[in-house]
Amino acid sequence: MSHVTFSAPDLDSFCQLDKMGLRATGQQICDDHSVIEAVTRDPDRWCRTCGALGVARDTEVRRLAHVPLGWRPTILLVRVRRYRCQACGKVWREDLSKVAAPRSKLTRQAVPRALKSVVLDRLTIARVAANLGVAWHTANRAVLDAGRELLISDASGFDGVEVIGVDEHAWRHTRFGSKWVTVVIDLTPVRDQTTSPDEKPPQAGVTHRTVNVQCTHGSNTLRLG
Ligand SMILES: [Zn+2]
Repeated sequence: MSHVTFSAPDLDSFCQLDKMGLRATGQQICDDHSVIEAVTRDPDRWCRTCGALGVARDTEVRRLAHVPLGWRPTILLVRVRRYRCQACGKVWREDLSKVAAPRSKLTRQAVPRALKSVVLDRLTIARVAANLGVAWHTANRAVLDAGRELLISDASGFDGVEVIGVDEHAWRHTRFGSKWVTVVIDLTPVRDQTTSPDEKPPQAGVTHRTVNVQCTHGSNTLRLG
């Protein structure tokens, strides 16, 4: 019998705010969305120019879409403190780089969730936007930027790829809208199986057309051979 241990209920860990350096200070549960008010755990009081102690000047609010919890959008209202250096007069706001990218309207945890929803769960951008509680263009831009960064700009993404398969797949089964998508699959493991001394047959169900490619790792370009 497994021994299950429990810890005290904790909104910070449940919502993974602690991983982003935040601490919840309030919550608002509505029928169609939830709002969590939060502040940074470690005040950023020291001047980045001269190192002197700053004094709190005011706060500003940054609204971010977080990972949806409880089947409704979860919004973070982060109250960001601004400080003024007592020695040189420099003014700065607390660093939220662990929480969200600059100018982003989604937390760093919500962005990969949105990308996975589109790529793996095959949700539409409209559905992803509704889940996050953001506008269609906001979700679309976040998914495109994340996809570009994780799937295209990563030069190591094609490491070990020697054979790819191309398949036309019907992803929408309605009378309206585009329903076909071209899928490119790494079939190197299948090729290796067929050329091994054991001469194992290809995996059942793998019927994709294969083409030989040459990978240019530096620029992520594929050249059909
Ligand atoms: Zn200073």
